[in-house]
Amino acid sequence: MLGKLERTRLWSVGKLPCYTSRKATGQTLSLRKVPELVRRAIKLRNAGSGSAVFPPESRSALAFPTAQARCHLLSMEILVFLCSAAAVLVWGFLWAWDALERMKSWEQTGQLRAGSRTLLVIAHPDDEAMFFAPTVLSLARLRHRVSLLCFSTGNYYNQGEIRKKELLQSCDVLGIPYSSVMIIDNRAFPDDPGVQWDTEHVASDLLQHIEANGINLVVTFDARGVSGHINHITLHAAVRTLHSEGRLPKGCSVLMLETVNVVRKYISFLDLPFSWLQTQNVLFVLSSKEVAQAKRAMSCHRSQLLWFRHLYVFFSRYMRINSLHFL
Ligand SMILES: [Zn+2]
Repeated sequence: MLGKLERTRLWSVGKLPCYTSRKATGQTLSLRKVPELVRRAIKLRNAGSGSAVFPPESRSALAFPTAQARCHLLSMEILVFLCSAAAVLVWGFLWAWDALERMKSWEQTGQLRAGSRTLLVIAHPDDEAMFFAPTVLSLARLRHRVSLLCFSTGNYYNQGEIRKKELLQSCDVLGIPYSSVMIIDNRAFPDDPGVQWDTEHVASDLLQHIEANGINLVVTFDARGVSGHINHITLHAAVRTLHSEGRLPKGCSVLMLETVNVVRKYISFLDLPFSWLQTQNVLFVLSSKEVAQAKRAMSCHRSQLLWFRHLYVFFSRYMRINSLHFL
């Protein structure tokens, strides 16, 4: 038996013992027999004849496998997994707490205080329901007085008149009265992804509206415009110009709707964990009742409800979640 064991290769990796069941002769040794063979080898070594059994490098180390060692390895893996999970949970909790504190501090400093005059600036009829419904409904919940400025009639397919009416109906569903909606019908601002609006012209008209209505908070697109439409991006550029040049009235803040990647955009409420983990300034999430309200607003845009728009309404996270940044 010792002869067989002498031909069995034993070695160690780090502190954990390993062994092969294949003998140098090419014959296979049953794994179940190995512990018994090892026990015999230890016996022989203790008797002073075990030097031939173990290779020189493993004499000083534990060089045989046991069920106990495997059990120990499994325990270590479970411990590492539990520690990692605990670390992720603690980090997530601290981040959520921090986000909540930031929200409170903004409300305390008055940037989202009740009674604020908030202006939603959009480029086309349907932007308010497709992208900003969570913001509009949440601000209404915070008792903001929300008004809307739309820079075009959405006349790309010569449906400008129809779309103006649809916008008014949608705003009514979202709680914005007709008297607080202004639609600019100007040939300088066509609904056309191929035409770049003049940024200074947009900025000038917008500033006039802000000053005339005593606006405290402006909400619009970020630099990527959510859908990437050039008219959305121009609105952002105009607001940024007013802000960077210090032309906005004192105390007037700007919130920009965050553009997320295409995967996050179409996973509906499943985007919520990602939205929580991202560093946005304000996060608005709708209840199921409010989501139904947002969908009713979207259904007012009957001229736009092609088959892919139905898919959008069902899958888009913008029908449920808005994350925004202050400029
Ligand atoms: Zn648009």
